[in-house]
Amino acid sequence: MHELPIVLDIIRVMKDEAKKHGFHEITKITLVIGELSSVVDESVQMYFEVAAKDTPCANAKLVFEHRPAMLKCTVCGTEFPHEKSFDCPACGGSSVLIKGTGTEFYIKSFDGN
Ligand SMILES: [Zn+2]
Repeated sequence: MHELPIVLDIIRVMKDEAKKHGFHEITKITLVIGELSSVVDESVQMYFEVAAKDTPCANAKLVFEHRPAMLKCTVCGTEFPHEKSFDCPACGGSSVLIKGTGTEFYIKSFDGN
């Protein structure tokens, strides 16, 4: 349920941006969601549809871009996205999570007119 404040935040930012750019409406919002951010697309979409009513975002299409967490091999130093395994694709060594990756959540871009 933590998506509601996030959605309200997005709408607030978009209202400011619409005013700044002289847009009557926002048509598209691209959001970046890290795999470890625990933000769920469907929840964002659901809250957005309700909360965006009577705002410049009412008809905006949400586009979700997912970013994987990145791992770094402790043996050879290769960096690779976390998919299924923590084993290095280059040497088979074990890897560690690169701090901060995969937890991002932000508005990447938006369109309006
Ligand atoms: Zn390696």
